[in-house]
Amino acid sequence: MVDVERIDGGPRTAVVVGAGIVGLSTAWFLQERGVEVTVVDRTSIAAGASWGNAGWIAPGLAIPLNEPSVLRYGLRSLLSPTAPLHIPPRVDPGLWSFLLRFAAHCRWSSWTRAVRANLPLNEESFEAFDVLTANGVDVATVDAPITAGFTSPAWAQGLLRELSRMADAGQRVDHVELDADGLREHVPLASPALTAGVRVDGQRYTDPGAFVQALARAVVARGATIRLFEVVDLRTHARGVTVHPRKGKAVAADVAVIATGAWLTGLAKRLGVRVPVRAGRGYSFTVPVERPVPGPVYLPDVRVACTPYQDGLRVAGTMEFRDPDAPGVGARLEAIIASARPLLDGVRWEQRRDVWVGPRPVTPDGRALIGAVRAPHVYVAAGHGMWGLAQGPVTGRLLAEQITTGKQPEALRPFDPLR
Ligand SMILES: Cc1cc2nc3c(=O)[nH]c(=O)nc-3n(C[C@H](O)[C@H](O)[C@H](O)COP(=O)(O)OP(=O)(O)OC[C@H]3O[C@@H](n4cnc5c(N)ncnc54)[C@H](O)[C@@H]3O)c2cc1C
Repeated sequence: MVDVERIDGGPRTAVVVGAGIVGLSTAWFLQERGVEVTVVDRTSIAAGASWGNAGWIAPGLAIPLNEPSVLRYGLRSLLSPTAPLHIPPRVDPGLWSFLLRFAAHCRWSSWTRAVRANLPLNEESFEAFDVLTANGVDVATVDAPITAGFTSPAWAQGLLRELSRMADAGQRVDHVELDADGLREHVPLASPALTAGVRVDGQRYTDPGAFVQALARAVVARGATIRLFEVVDLRTHARGVTVHPRKGKAVAADVAVIATGAWLTGLAKRLGVRVPVRAGRGYSFTVPVERPVPGPVYLPDVRVACTPYQDGLRVAGTMEFRDPDAPGVGARLEAIIASARPLLDGVRWEQRRDVWVGPRPVTPDGRALIGAVRAPHVYVAAGHGMWGLAQGPVTGRLLAEQITTGKQPEALRPFDPLR
């Protein structure tokens, strides 16, 4: 355990609801500060977005979703069921009110605010992972560039402009433009249709499901208990908090952290959190490949992310605003394959396995919700959207600091859940 500041009479016990990357990282860093932790999940370890995501630990590409072009793109894609962004055209007042708020934030001013807010999270992302892997989390992170492939140099300009805006907002991203030959050197799977590239240097990737499982093992080895039930209610008392299953015994602790990803709003609404979190669902699957995959590949034209995974390639994509618990839609998966197939050669699409759908926890303003809520002894940590794997460990570290010292770290101010 490190020598860290604590408040006298600070919490000795915590219950963390949600066993994804964010909840388990918070549990681990609370333990580092001497807090005894119980983790509760309604299903299992990494049952939400933390399992089948693309596994990129890519602070350099943590581009907020709410850029103005997404609005134009979103309106166009309403008319196309195969577009990478999909909004089911049915009546869901909660979803439409969320989308109106999201649309209002699709402005450069809001986007820049989100980039600036994310700076400290991105800056300390690798270090927070390194603390975990140096102290018992036995799944490695791999250094590698992420290479984006485009069908023409003109298309590459879109990403280059985004990276330049990121740099203007303070997020420096080392990158190199590639011609067709340079692209093929980094992406041996690139088909002749890809003629230009951008290599984003200094990034990492991991097997996200394995990493979160290893994190859970480490948390248990350090004395935590993991309980499986759905938390349906949370009550605060003068000296602490209890979280309640539908039936059976509640778990009591000095503090509670709600880290339920795309499911946050159900519990958090009652705690005074007015910023909604909705599920931007993505799909992934694994395919065998006939050529080596030296590192992650990004296909921005079709919004598909590919990552070396086990002996093949994990392919991830689409953003579908739908109930996080709804079953997967086969057409969305087919749309990913149809869009990526012409861009990659040597991929055995028919032999896909591990088909998965999971909910990105998306907020309307592109900023996560991390910190104390109105109810005493209760904290939330969720809403990291497309970058929760990369930002999960550092989120846990900062929130554990706030919980045990009673002071909000400067870096967490923009993420105040009561904004
Ligand atoms: C296709 C796809 C690709 C992605 N790629 C990347 C990437 O490359 N890099 C990156 O940084 N991010 C990526 N992301 C985003 C990342 O996966 C998420 O931001 C991150 O996993 C969120 O973690 P979390 O712990 O907040 O939520 P989750 O992992 O969803 O965990 C929430 C947990 O809460 C539990 N829970 C919910 N309600 C309750 C309740 N009432 N009681 C008890 N338990 C409950 C759930 O069972 C779940 O286990 C991707 C996401 C998708 C979908």
